Amino acid sequence: MTKAFNTEDLIAAAKSIIKDEKCPNCKDLACPGWETMPSSFNQDQLNLIGTLKSENEESWNEYHPKNTQIWSADAPIAPNFHPYNKCDVYQCQNCTQMYLRYTEYGGYYVDQRIRLVTPELIDGAINA
Ligand SMILES: [Zn+2]
Repeated sequence: MTKAFNTEDLIAAAKSIIKDEKCPNCKDLACPGWETMPSSFNQDQLNLIGTLKSENEESWNEYHPKNTQIWSADAPIAPNFHPYNKCDVYQCQNCTQMYLRYTEYGGYYVDQRIRLVTPELIDGAINA
């Protein structure tokens, strides 16, 4: 059973990240916003540590109080909103860097997406 993370859990875990820019696994994933999983990224180095999925999982509302959009590098990481409410939380074994991942299901494609967890961007706003 994967541990369910709420906003406070995510913030607490993110505060334990040790930044190591020399991690050979993570150096190819420099983008702090969402991106399609790069084929060069070694997913074997990622440990599943929790999930943000909740009873809220079906909501498609996004949270952008400062006119960001889903791909913005400075968009809030708001666990109660799409797509964070569909994410699992992963951590690099090598350097402790944390990532969120979810799968986007389009009409004719499946897109694995990944975003670096930036602690300052985590926002516990309520999806009412
Ligand atoms: Zn790493």
